[in-house]
Amino acid sequence: MQHFISYWEKSVLLKTFDFTILGAGLIGKQIAIKIKKKFPSARVAMVDKMPISYGASTRNAGFACFGSVSEIVDDFKRSPQNEVYNLIQKRFTGIQQLKQEFGEASIGFEATGSFEVFQSEADFQIAESQYQEINSELNARFGYKQVFNLQSADNLKMNFGPSAIYNPYEGMLNSGLLNQTVNSIAHTLDIIPLYGLNIMSYHASQNGYTLISDSGMEIETNQLIIANNAFAKDLLPSEDVEPARGQIVITKPIDNLPFDAIFHADKGYIYFRRIDDRILIGGGRNHFYDQENTFDMQGTDNLKDFLSNYIKEWILPNTPFEIDMHWSGIMGMGKEKLPIVKKVDDHLGICVRMSGMGVALGPVLSDEVLAWY
Ligand SMILES: Cc1cc2nc3c(=O)[nH]c(=O)nc-3n(C[C@H](O)[C@H](O)[C@H](O)COP(=O)(O)OP(=O)(O)OC[C@H]3O[C@@H](n4cnc5c(N)ncnc54)[C@H](O)[C@@H]3O)c2cc1C
Repeated sequence: MQHFISYWEKSVLLKTFDFTILGAGLIGKQIAIKIKKKFPSARVAMVDKMPISYGASTRNAGFACFGSVSEIVDDFKRSPQNEVYNLIQKRFTGIQQLKQEFGEASIGFEATGSFEVFQSEADFQIAESQYQEINSELNARFGYKQVFNLQSADNLKMNFGPSAIYNPYEGMLNSGLLNQTVNSIAHTLDIIPLYGLNIMSYHASQNGYTLISDSGMEIETNQLIIANNAFAKDLLPSEDVEPARGQIVITKPIDNLPFDAIFHADKGYIYFRRIDDRILIGGGRNHFYDQENTFDMQGTDNLKDFLSNYIKEWILPNTPFEIDMHWSGIMGMGKEKLPIVKKVDDHLGICVRMSGMGVALGPVLSDEVLAWY
């Protein structure tokens, strides 16, 4: 439907905003909240094409994690070690800040720790040969003590290899509660929600920038911050951002679930956890690369079956279970597994490509954005 502006909209409701954040996921909302707290009298608008954020924030696995040993070793192949360690620090710090800023109960945080489990002896040996060096680096650089610990996997009663790596610093959260808490703070602070606006383009204008939606509605803003993660390419064609779908399945309740932690497998590409009395498992994208490079939120039967079989083969070999739900979220990836956070000009900043780590990175990256103003 075409939008035709009224006098009331022009003079009051859509009067030039001081700040407009495009993308109301966890990143955009945390940026908006910090800006509004720093500049309480500023007009801060939050724009999203959907009534409830529809990308990754409301559709992830609820892991409060900063990387398993095999994931870190894999990251060393793609990025300089220094950058990988800096990213671990941002994720680690981000998890602490999420707990402090929002409260553990409000985000459903549980300090369960995590296990990395191994499907093959060869994979375990690579991790085993590296974990102590990574521990030493994390201690020397950031003072984190004994992050990764070799443990027997016998008590887990799964089908993985006999050894696991335990990390006491990771845990699980409830993504529903986290989003709800962030939404409610944004609401309390009077951040102006402009939801249902699909922004097709923007251009520099007299007051800063003008955004134009598919209905023709124009939003004038002094400062524009683009925080739409995987969907950035259309608005930022020169940036290296590609969609990466992540599919998740969740079982129906299972009696006496034998574990209570978050789990990483297959270099971090597979992750599973308990939620209430169900198993939630996600990932497997690395086995279906071509089909998962998509914005399509509809999951596929082949990945659903892959994840379901994974539960059967590796996690609960002797317990019958049924799949209850299957859904997808879209992550923003690039050649480098690093977010893009930069001020483009006096009126435009961008914070996109969370590379599947935005839950943990949100607090630190939103501080980086805040420091621009
Ligand atoms: C399956 C899965 C598992 C994950 N596991 C973890 C994990 O273990 N740990 C971790 O830290 N992170 C994890 N993540 C990643 C994390 O969820 C994301 O990095 C984070 O939520 C990104 O937040 P965001 O606000 O940047 O983007 P999003 O949540 O994707 O929000 C972007 C918003 O922009 C809006 N938008 C896009 N284009 C436009 C437009 N043109 N006009 C208006 N609005 C627009 C969308 O509707 C959307 O609401 C996972 C993600 C998935 C999908």
